[in-house]
Amino acid sequence: EVGHAPYPRSTALTMEGVQHAFGSQTAVRGVDLDVAPGEVVCLLGPSGCGKTTLLRIAAGLEVLQRGRVSLNGGEIAVPKGRHVPPEKRNVGLAFQDSALFPHLTVIENVTFGLKGEPPRQRRERALTLLEQLGMASYADSYPHMLSGGQQQRVALARALAPAPQLMLLDEPFSSLDARLRDRIRDDTLHVLKKVGAATLLVTHDPEEAMFMADRIALMRDGRIVQVGTPRELYCAPCDPFVVAFFGEVNELSGEVRGGRVQTPVGPVEAGWLPEGSQALVMIRPEALRITEHFEPAPEHRHSHVVMAKLLGRSSLLHICAHGEDGSEAHLHARVPGVFLPAEGQRVDIHLDLSQVFVFPSAAA
Ligand code: ATP
Repeated sequence: EVGHAPYPRSTALTMEGVQHAFGSQTAVRGVDLDVAPGEVVCLLGPSGCGKTTLLRIAAGLEVLQRGRVSLNGGEIAVPKGRHVPPEKRNVGLAFQDSALFPHLTVIENVTFGLKGEPPRQRRERALTLLEQLGMASYADSYPHMLSGGQQQRVALARALAPAPQLMLLDEPFSSLDARLRDRIRDDTLHVLKKVGAATLLVTHDPEEAMFMADRIALMRDGRIVQVGTPRELYCAPCDPFVVAFFGEVNELSGEVRGGRVQTPVGPVEAGWLPEGSQALVMIRPEALRITEHFEPAPEHRHSHVVMAKLLGRSSLLHICAHGEDGSEAHLHARVPGVFLPAEGQRVDIHLDLSQVFVFPSAAA
């Protein structure tokens, strides 16, 4: 069941009540978060919401100002007290700008952090990782001979090589072009799961977070707004910000009457809101099922197509919807495949209520 994922009680990383300010600007405002062994948690959120700061605190690159950070049950940072330095945390880091050592080859970069193992074993381990990330044929190249995306993959391999308990990744796929990105995400997830490292990964891309994460922590303005599985955040969002963060959404408002809100595309349940209050109804474009209607139009006005555009895998329709009560709304619908009804075409609209969300209106 969603909502009660049985994560092991033990946690690899625990952050409690973490706050952080740069001068007068507060970047992180009281964050509680844990990552279980082997679990991938994505920090997701808009630019400037505090994702990188939180990751840097976990890494020990920022000195903790308030709260507590533990690794495998052992305290590693408290304010004005214990601060285990980054290199002693047994943490693998791959940040956006992770520089490789320019005078070392790819394989030398990856084996660099490996100590206490015979050279042959180190080389084998590094080669395996490079192979898993599609970089084995570049083992003897120097960083300047690689593209940005290739360098990112080597940085990932270098971070993973010592088999750290915790991997901290900041936008690790940002330098990859769209085509390559999917494959490298796939390969990286495979390696992370195989190594069994607990992972905290920063991204601003909701699709990337949904693909990579066991759980997503969605942040806004220094706080975690909601944390849960991708499915929980997408299908049971806790507020309008969460809905809107995962893609464009139609917003309607209406009054709660008889436990429902009437919209031009039909009634929506809102029994949990006070009778007579204003509600915000959020309808994902894919929640609108559109069918062409060819019978002669009756007296009253009807819903029709304003514009239809092919986007590739889906078609985007602008619809003017007319309710039976005379209400009207302009809505965006996303329909799989090629579906391009003519402008002015009369349509019937059915709502997939699982992609419709009702909240109390902010103005109320
Ligand atoms: P992005 O996705 O753009 O990297 P982010 O969510 O990772 O953003 P942070 O980099 O953590 O956000 O920044 C959070 C806030 O703290 C921002 O307002 C930023 O301007 C501020 N900030 C971050 N680092 C510093 C710094 N070293 N000095 C001053 N302010 C900082």
